Amino acid sequence: MAEDQKGLAIGIDLGTTYSCVAVWQQQHNRVEIIHNDQGNNITPSCVAFTDHERLIGDAAKNQAASNPENTIFDVKRLIGRKYSDPLVQKDKMLWPFKVVAGVDDKPMISVKYKGQEKSLCAEEISSMVLSKMRDIAEAYLEKPVKNAVVTVPAYFNDSQRKATMDAGAIVGLNVIRIINEPTAAAIAYGLDKRNDCVGERNIFVFDFGGGTFDVSILTIKNKVFQVKATAGNTHLGGEDIDNRMINYFVEEMKRKSKVDISGNPRALRRLKSACERAKRALSYAVTTNIEIDGLFEGIDLLSSITRAKFEEINMEVFEECMQTVDRCLKDAKMEKTSVHDVVLVGGSSRIPKMQQLLQDFFNGKDLCKSINPDEAVAYGAAVQAALLTEGLKNVPDLVLKDVTPLSLGILVTGDLMNVMIPKNTTIPIKKKQVFCTNLDYQFSTTIKVYEGERVKASDNNLLGFFHICGFPPAARGYPLDVTFAINENGILSVSAEDKATGNRKGIIISNDKGRLSNEEISKMIKEAENYKSEDEKFLKKAIAMNGLDDHVYKIRKALRKEDISSMLSSKEKEDIMSKILRATYMLDRRNEMEDIVAIEDFLKDLKAISEGIVVVENGCKRKRES
Ligand code: AMP
Repeated sequence: MAEDQKGLAIGIDLGTTYSCVAVWQQQHNRVEIIHNDQGNNITPSCVAFTDHERLIGDAAKNQAASNPENTIFDVKRLIGRKYSDPLVQKDKMLWPFKVVAGVDDKPMISVKYKGQEKSLCAEEISSMVLSKMRDIAEAYLEKPVKNAVVTVPAYFNDSQRKATMDAGAIVGLNVIRIINEPTAAAIAYGLDKRNDCVGERNIFVFDFGGGTFDVSILTIKNKVFQVKATAGNTHLGGEDIDNRMINYFVEEMKRKSKVDISGNPRALRRLKSACERAKRALSYAVTTNIEIDGLFEGIDLLSSITRAKFEEINMEVFEECMQTVDRCLKDAKMEKTSVHDVVLVGGSSRIPKMQQLLQDFFNGKDLCKSINPDEAVAYGAAVQAALLTEGLKNVPDLVLKDVTPLSLGILVTGDLMNVMIPKNTTIPIKKKQVFCTNLDYQFSTTIKVYEGERVKASDNNLLGFFHICGFPPAARGYPLDVTFAINENGILSVSAEDKATGNRKGIIISNDKGRLSNEEISKMIKEAENYKSEDEKFLKKAIAMNGLDDHVYKIRKALRKEDISSMLSSKEKEDIMSKILRATYMLDRRNEMEDIVAIEDFLKDLKAISEGIVVVENGCKRKRES
């Protein structure tokens, strides 16, 4: 095992809306879901920039309504995509923050931080969320964490996977393995169940989260978890449901109040929060109210929505999910009656209509709700992390055999997609095929690598290309070996070899334009360090300032007590008052105060001259040595 793979490894579910971190606790022989500083097991995948600081997680989400343009969420919907992608264009319309086209069509998020415009890519925002999850783990474990298994939607393509690994690299987190979210959830579910059954157990995982939808069919036999097929949509989730609700209320306001709030980021952000709350409420209630005071130009939104209306608005989403379920079973060549367990994962799987459609599809089968849909993915990732960590004892023995979600191949004559590795092939895998030149005296060729299911290569997603040249003069039909290899993380490398000359060329699809270059990553690592040190500085200053504020308050309170005040000499009083005046001046200019050491020194001074005053909880008592 490589040096950097030694030591503690955590499992991180990097979600579109929420993230979750877990660890294998050797002393208890089980996985623990780690709560954050607010006591929550899930942390919003949200980053905010203000004039003074950067906020991540709950702190960022809580201030979103007052700072919508600089509060970034949903970046998982951007990662590994191009700016011109129609899905990015559609999402952009509903986001209160600004997304612009960067170099090579890379989407860039534009924010104002400390009064300056900053441009960040999705990987950078994801790296900030990852660093927060690592901080949460480190605070809980009281030791540094370097390694992590990070989960991605099963249907994430090559560039989305690599972009996720890049996000880890930016904050110095060694992503030792990328695993698929439904597979991770199946580990969480299947670990308990595998002892209950003789022979094979077929598990259908329905993972409907905030931004992505995945289904997978796995077969568990003894210690082997074999994925049979996977299908999904990396751009379908609770956020789409929220967006449909937003549109519904935007239209309602147009109709009833004659106002169009769609161009107002603050109003949209407030409406989004209210819609998400209403959606959750409709999972247990049949009707719910939406009330937002002064939403737009002083006009309130006072309305309600029934579960029936909610279902009508979102029927298309639910139906698309069900079509995917059907496709996955067909891909796995499995009858629905052969499925032993249907496991629900992801917050959106709580929607009653979704559950009902799924249950009806499986002929009324009870759905498994025994695992926590918010935590199962991180749980499975933590088990995988423990398996990859040297020297841990009693880790459940299992072998994970995942599949590649999309077919991979090269373009051959006539714009045809020559599939080298079909979708749902177990990974890791290596495949070689001989291709021949189709011209006499052909000197070189270009290998174009695609992913997708279309017959026409150019209808699929171009992952990258490379040239190989220097063939000796030969008639058409000169052979060339092309090799495709997919590693455990689902990442592809392609090479071509001219056996006769020994000339070899290849790519790990890293020069894909969507991907960050090494220089870009280095630059971002530096910036991430800057952010970290700025955050630390901010925290230190906040602690010093709060300490000062607290002490001034206590002295003032003490001085208001007649007995204490009368026992001070006028010189003492004067000294204390002049320091308090200075402290008040400093506290009023909190944002401009840069010199933390000066603040700390001043506080020390203040404490020294007021040390005779002892503050007790219910007031102050004078205590003089002489
Ligand atoms: P995840 O990505 O698994 O964290 O799922 C987050 C998504 O689940 C968000 O879109 C939430 O709004 C949604 N969600 C969480 N709880 C519920 C609920 N009770 N009913 C409907 N949607 C929910």
